[in-house]
Amino acid sequence: SLRQQEVGGVKVFDDALDVVIRQRQTLRRALHASLETDDLKLVFQPIEPCEAGVPRKMEALLRWNEPELGAVSPALFIPVAEESGLIVPLGRWVLREACRAAMSWPHGTVVSVNVSVQQILSGDLLQDVQDALAYSGLAAQRLEIEITESVFSRDLDLVCQVLAALRAQGISLAIDDFGTGYSSLAYLRQLPVDVIKIDRCFITDLDHGARKLLLAMVSMARGLGFRIVVEGVETAEQQNLLAAMGVDYLQGYFIARPMAASDVAAWLAR
Ligand code: C2E
Ligand code: MG
Ligand code: MG
Ligand code: MG
Repeated sequence: SLRQQEVGGVKVFDDALDVVIRQRQTLRRALHASLETDDLKLVFQPIEPCEAGVPRKMEALLRWNEPELGAVSPALFIPVAEESGLIVPLGRWVLREACRAAMSWPHGTVVSVNVSVQQILSGDLLQDVQDALAYSGLAAQRLEIEITESVFSRDLDLVCQVLAALRAQGISLAIDDFGTGYSSLAYLRQLPVDVIKIDRCFITDLDHGARKLLLAMVSMARGLGFRIVVEGVETAEQQNLLAAMGVDYLQGYFIARPMAASDVAAWLAR
């Protein structure tokens, strides 16, 4: 009976793997089809300055509502898009839509767009960004691009060249989910970026030790000249603590959940 269990175990594993592979294929095909329809949309989440008079920002977050699959989480479909190369046309669409949306907001409000490393390595990103700005009429100074630390573990020369070209146009760059990836204090000093978004895992459980770590990260980032965003703010207590630490911007459900494009103007005017 042990043998049967083992055989059974392997069979179950094979089936599970098969399901995962077929799910990915289904997702990839459906995502490809959705690029042609209007199943994709952007929602926007505020990145709020702690001090008045500082430009406000809205982060564009992709939503996919597939007729048969329902709402699929970006945590699920972004990796599929990245593996299949679909992230390049998908990211192109996101850039255009985000810039177009930002044109209807008050002047000075910045739109922040997530970009995957595959878009940087594809060689198309600079042109795609230029096209999105030209198509929408948005000033480059109102576009921010979020990348994760992992982009620096790839072709470093190419990545830095693309990032430098973006910054030369007046676009600002932010490191997303800071502290969770390819972290090294040695490289932090040389990062060609303007903003550091400290990952929400650093504020979820703010006991004494966690506060000290956070304060150290904030003062280090400040000392190196970066503007600091903390993401995932869910409580008033976190908000007060972070504002007292001198963080520049806060983002999270306590400030606002991601909202439909049609709700942004009213939120900014409230
Ligand atoms: P991210 O860029 O770090 O975005 C933050 C995620 O945390 C969003 O999830 C947001 O809804 C969620 N969030 C915001 N505030 C809170 C909070 O207070 N508590 C909690 N628990 N969560 C909060 P979402 O929209 O599901 O996006 C997940 C990830 O998918 C994003 O992480 C980003 O890496 C990726 N993504 C989303 N849209 C795009 C896109 O257009 N292009 C690319 N390349 N990636 C995208
Ligand atoms: Mg982001
Ligand atoms: Mg983030
Ligand atoms: Mg995050």
